[in-house]
Amino acid sequence: MNSLNISRRAFLTGTAGATFVAMHPFSLRAQGAQAHLRIMETTDLHVHVYPYDYYSDQPIDTVGLSRTAARIAEVRAEATNALLLDNGDFLQGNPMGDYIAYERGMKEGDMHPVIAAMNTVGFDASTLGNHEFNYGLDFLTKSLAGAAFPVVCANVVTEMGATPREDKTLVPPYVILDREVTLGDGTTAPIRVGIIGFVPPQIMTWDRQHLDGSVQARDIVTTAEAWVPQIKEEGADVIIALSHSGIGSAQREEMMENASVPLAAVDGIDALMTGHSHLVFPSPDYAGYDMVNADKGLIHGKPAVMGGFWGSHMGLIDLMLERTADGWTVLMAEAEARPIFERGEDRSITPLVEDVPEVLAAVETEHQATLDYVRRAVGETSAPLQSYFALVADDPSVQIVSNAQTWYIEQMMQGTEWEGLPILSAAAPFKAGGRGGPEYYTDVPTGPVAIKNVADLYLYPNTVRAVKINGAQLKGWLERSAGMFNQITPGEADQVLLSPDFPSYNFDVMDGVTYQIDLSQPAMFDKDGNVVAEDANRIVNLMYDGAPVTNEMEFVVATNNYRAGGGGSFPGAMGDTIIFEGPDTNRDVIVRYIVDQGTINPSADANWTFAPMEGTTVLFDTGPKAADYVADVKGVSIEPAGEGPDGFARFRITL
Ligand code: MN
Ligand code: MG
Repeated sequence: MNSLNISRRAFLTGTAGATFVAMHPFSLRAQGAQAHLRIMETTDLHVHVYPYDYYSDQPIDTVGLSRTAARIAEVRAEATNALLLDNGDFLQGNPMGDYIAYERGMKEGDMHPVIAAMNTVGFDASTLGNHEFNYGLDFLTKSLAGAAFPVVCANVVTEMGATPREDKTLVPPYVILDREVTLGDGTTAPIRVGIIGFVPPQIMTWDRQHLDGSVQARDIVTTAEAWVPQIKEEGADVIIALSHSGIGSAQREEMMENASVPLAAVDGIDALMTGHSHLVFPSPDYAGYDMVNADKGLIHGKPAVMGGFWGSHMGLIDLMLERTADGWTVLMAEAEARPIFERGEDRSITPLVEDVPEVLAAVETEHQATLDYVRRAVGETSAPLQSYFALVADDPSVQIVSNAQTWYIEQMMQGTEWEGLPILSAAAPFKAGGRGGPEYYTDVPTGPVAIKNVADLYLYPNTVRAVKINGAQLKGWLERSAGMFNQITPGEADQVLLSPDFPSYNFDVMDGVTYQIDLSQPAMFDKDGNVVAEDANRIVNLMYDGAPVTNEMEFVVATNNYRAGGGGSFPGAMGDTIIFEGPDTNRDVIVRYIVDQGTINPSADANWTFAPMEGTTVLFDTGPKAADYVADVKGVSIEPAGEGPDGFARFRITL
């Protein structure tokens, strides 16, 4: 019935690849007592089965298990012995996942579409990623019930024992797969492959509301040190760690999130599947990491891969094994990540493989239902969500992002040392005309809000961060933003307001404080974030809770990974102030917020305005549809002023 599973069965019988298939050197070189074992990885699929972007509602060539499956089929065709493993984060992360969780639900016996697709491709085992916990344990359990492959995870426990080996784990900590491999001489021999899985213990923070009181998480490396010897004792010849954890510091730390390097040092682990970071390994991304060979794909000398995300790559580890009197030993290893597309010099995308039709067919019904879901209302907005005035006034399209970010970070700060600090939110308008043209604005009228509108509110797949900053940094952050504007001469009419080269995504509006922007002052920063007027003071009357912000006051600011990591070079956001790294995209947070609230009120609160300037007017250009909303703009006196260039409409602001 399905060709992929049939080719998987070839693994068991050792059917040789067809003569036209290019053989890997390990297969060609395998001697009588040697076997070439290929271990394939998918990771961080995040429900991407179709090559489709449900937010923009159009096909894309950079994602989809339907494409990765073609890579998998190639390896199965050319290899005598192959295993396929998934490294977690399959259940959540696109609107199909949200559709199942928020709309259709998972009743006893229901099949989750990503599991159906994975069953069709034919996995040998999987582990749990942190996002498997996003919809709660009941949803997870019902989803896993449909899996035709074992799912293992050693460090999430329902009852914690004195040592990890005395724990009661949520799912089995490991599995030993009994397989037959074809040797170099064409005979077969049994092999026992141990598979153990790990997830970042940070799930206890990220999904506290689902997990508190039900499960606990253990340190990854400590857990591995306890279980790996037992897997050996039970007779595993080869042990593979499914590390849903990034490749990070070699320095071991208790409860570290990205623990793959110290994990690789654990005695008995032969190879590692990594993930969580949505990057590719081996690749230059990891050049210079301690104990990591980013070129050959080795960590502590052991083969490791990371197969990108959303199905972008298939990770592949080739092992040359030799059978001795004591069992199997690894003679040689290689690792690579095979992409499903290539990006040209001009950033164009070319697919490298075609869809496997059986994989598409497995989720066709749910794909169609998801299309309906993203096009249909999931909530209501009680005010228009538009961005025509986002650069000149507090604006609903930015306000809603801040409302959602603040809602989320408030939950994440609970029970931490930062609980109780004021929470602010930084957000910038992404669709605000400019080079995008006079139609390039967010424009959702009052009434129903569909999921695809959220893409409009948040264009980039950033993830949430919180930084802790002081009042001086806060003011600096806003001075950096205020570089959006030209310096304005008091008393003159019709001056051009916006600096033409300043990108709107670097115009962060700070919600949770009030402030004014004094346009008579020069900008402190140029458009690249260099200080050009150290004593400039565009930000005035900066207040928190009605009192002036002092340099020493402390704030938590909700933002995204780009900004928090130094994107745009904002004071207070240079990578050294991060206190929380969320696994969730800002977009997901907005969707959850809308689903949670039902009706959202994105009305801006005019918490920032321009400082008044007697007898002074400025001009700015925006989309012509702005005329419909001009009466709603708060905190600024604005009127139409004719046509601008290139189809834009011109408005006049009296300061
Ligand atoms: Mn992930
Ligand atoms: Mg506001």
